[in-house]
Amino acid sequence: MTAPKSHLLEILRQYSVAQKVISTPLTDNGLADDARFPFLSLVGQTEMKLALLLSLVNRNVGGVLLIGPRGTGKTTAVRGLVELMPTITRSLCPYGCTEAAVEALGIDAICTDCAKKYANGEPLTATEPMRLIELPLNSRLEDVVGGINERIAIEQQKVQLQRGILSYADQNLLYIDEVNLLDDAIINAILDAAAQGMFTVRRGPMTATYQSRLFLVGSMNPEEGKLRPQIQDRFGLRVVVRGLTDPSNRLEAYRRAVAYQQNPHQFVARWQADTEQATAEIQAARERLPHVTFAPDVEKTGLRWVQELHIESHRAEITMLEAARAYAALDERDTATLDDLRIVAPMALRQRESAFITDYMAKESDYDRQISEVISR
Ligand SMILES: [Zn+2]
Repeated sequence: MTAPKSHLLEILRQYSVAQKVISTPLTDNGLADDARFPFLSLVGQTEMKLALLLSLVNRNVGGVLLIGPRGTGKTTAVRGLVELMPTITRSLCPYGCTEAAVEALGIDAICTDCAKKYANGEPLTATEPMRLIELPLNSRLEDVVGGINERIAIEQQKVQLQRGILSYADQNLLYIDEVNLLDDAIINAILDAAAQGMFTVRRGPMTATYQSRLFLVGSMNPEEGKLRPQIQDRFGLRVVVRGLTDPSNRLEAYRRAVAYQQNPHQFVARWQADTEQATAEIQAARERLPHVTFAPDVEKTGLRWVQELHIESHRAEITMLEAARAYAALDERDTATLDDLRIVAPMALRQRESAFITDYMAKESDYDRQISEVISR
């Protein structure tokens, strides 16, 4: 396999960058108070980091599920992504009105408020970094999808729809920690919204439709309860996160954790240049992605693997092929190769097989054969 072109992938490959812990002079970089543990400074866990980066580059990979015990850096990695977030164009309106919609479909494509703004030459969109939204563990369905504003209902005897977390998550990364402990109705609502890119809330006579082009990341500790296979299948990439096995990596991880605790700002500053370069590479990869195509036979080979592994779900090949395109884009190439496919395939294909479905389908095929025998006699 050839060396990656991108700086970011090179950092992922050589994850023990020991010189990073050498003391550097403390400089005031004007960092925010919540100096997060830098994503790039996490030791090991290459597959987890890669899956998260691919999901930032291409929403069509369909989200990431991180499966592993506590204390393996899942939440730290997800929160560290904030510093690598690409820039997006966001609508200033809850209905998602944009100048692009007017240009493509005319003034009727936007709401009346935005039509007025547009006529006055006011902007409908703003450019800003993608955000991380963490779903609170005790969220209720109405907190997530939106519902009746209870305060206004009581005080003013009026029915007003209140926006839910999902409506704020459009184009942002929605992180669901302990996804296996979440109520099925809530997780289904989130997965449906993510898959369709929009969702509608109906409460009595009131209805509202919001855009929800989410980048979804879920994490779970399998010791605390299983995730139903149907739900698990709806996440694109799955990574089984284990504790580090190499003692020297473990030691390095410990040293970095201590260095960070002693002086978070200084620690973050050491990674600042790499972080900035990586952010630019992710942005560039997103812009390159629409132009990335496959080398001959890559798609056919991917489909053959899916068939040989007896995977029924079409999400397997969609995720795998889209992740290969994202990987090529991240490596500054316009062609996704078989090597790219091999790198992303385990994340896309694992935990897709279902003994129940395989048996069920085999029985159905047998019975179909009997039927055709009977009716052709
Ligand atoms: Zn609007």
